[in-house]
Amino acid sequence: MSDAYLNPDLRFNSYGTFLRRRFGCRVSKVNVDGGFTCPNRDGTRGTGGCVYCDNSSFSPGGTVPEKSIETQMAEGMAYHRARLDSQKFIVYFQKFTNTYATVERLRDLYTRALAHPDVIGISVGTRPDSLADEALDLLAELAKRHYVCIELGLQSMDDAILRDINRGHTLAEYLQAVERIAGRGIELCTHLIYGFPGETREGFLKTADLMASLPVNSVKLHQLHAVKGTLLADMYQRGAFVPISHREYVATACDFLELLPPRIAIQRLYGSAPLAIRVVPTWDLKNNQMWYSIVNELKRRGTWQGFRLGGECLKAGNL
Ligand code: SF4
Repeated sequence: MSDAYLNPDLRFNSYGTFLRRRFGCRVSKVNVDGGFTCPNRDGTRGTGGCVYCDNSSFSPGGTVPEKSIETQMAEGMAYHRARLDSQKFIVYFQKFTNTYATVERLRDLYTRALAHPDVIGISVGTRPDSLADEALDLLAELAKRHYVCIELGLQSMDDAILRDINRGHTLAEYLQAVERIAGRGIELCTHLIYGFPGETREGFLKTADLMASLPVNSVKLHQLHAVKGTLLADMYQRGAFVPISHREYVATACDFLELLPPRIAIQRLYGSAPLAIRVVPTWDLKNNQMWYSIVNELKRRGTWQGFRLGGECLKAGNL
């Protein structure tokens, strides 16, 4: 059964493969800015934000996107249609905390996104401490007729790291949020980062076991990187943050995949920052080079997602 999830060319269950399997056509995510803020910056939960958060793009009084949701969607869909021949779309509310508003405002934004005939669903990025019952009820209601995914930022399962990066929530709060989302017809994606100061590869890899034990449908993983204007960039200048090497990241990402059940789709495996604001790491690799450095390492090892779990996953031996 498990090998049915894996893309034989990539050796893991890519989100693109999952979407094509589920919807029968090329589906792309279109990012929109709904004008949200973040409780970890406005004082509700904390101030200053996560140490890696890009201060320059945050306005304390609430962001005001210059373009309407409809205009942002039209531009994003045109781009993906021209570049990838995409036929259907998921509108991704990405910037800041996209459930952090009144339920009336959330309903307005989400239903406007879903009104487009080529939009099959929405993806909503948020924090474990920002899922009010009303917001969750709304998402569950929309999930009866559409694809709805909550992208929950965990970043690290180590409470000491969460504290040190000023994340403003604990592992327990993430677990409570997962429990409240489960069984409501909503897909769940978890965001993870590797490379925090003081983090070990062994410590990070426990996250694969945690993901395997939860009703998580997909994950996003990237290396910790510092951009200009962040506390993390200051830490780097002071020597308090030493970025991991590309080799270390690729090896750890492959170890992680080998421990992750094939049922969990992979939405992202690396992060990139615009050159103008990037501080470290400076691997100077294009996006597809990052992607294929992981794919090629799996090939070199002769392994695949779920390889170390044995059992059913070993049926993927024809890869
Ligand atoms: S939760 Fe996201 S938006 Fe809020 S401070 Fe952290 S990185 Fe920034």
